[in-house]
Amino acid sequence: MATNRTFTMLKPDAVEKGHIGAILEKISASGFRIVAMKLTQMTVADAETFYAIHKERPFFPDLVQYMTRGPIVAAILEKDNAVEDFRTLIGATNPEDAAEGTIRKLYAESISENAVHGSDSDENAAIEGAFHFSGREKF
Ligand code: UDP
Ligand code: MG
Repeated sequence: MATNRTFTMLKPDAVEKGHIGAILEKISASGFRIVAMKLTQMTVADAETFYAIHKERPFFPDLVQYMTRGPIVAAILEKDNAVEDFRTLIGATNPEDAAEGTIRKLYAESISENAVHGSDSDENAAIEGAFHFSGREKF
């Protein structure tokens, strides 16, 4: 059954460049309701767990370094068809391939430092949301 929540992180590069406000504005204007949100920083253990599916990939050490080097904004978002519509809003992993007007086209630096995370399935949205938030932090 399709659910209507997804999970996002505004990654360290986006926070460093002062893009929190602009990205949240775009998310809100696209019809997503913020269910939970916080500024936080992942530990190395957090990032290794969150991205465990990629642990054999050559980019994994750099990914962990990148995702732990500074604060992120973590959020749970709600909308009809949230997972798929949010992936459309953020654009392709590599900003060079991302459609015009997408968050990654506008704000990402490279395939590695790509400004924003979006869950890729309802199952992962639930797992990732629960990784960052307790039930008391969700509205
Ligand atoms: N990544 C990278 N190099 C690659 C592919 C991915 O550094 O060749 C990083 C990038 O930050 C990406 C994250 O690893 O967002 C997770 O990769 P995934 O393929 O799941 O992309 P996403 O779902 O974020 O679009
Ligand atoms: Mg992914």
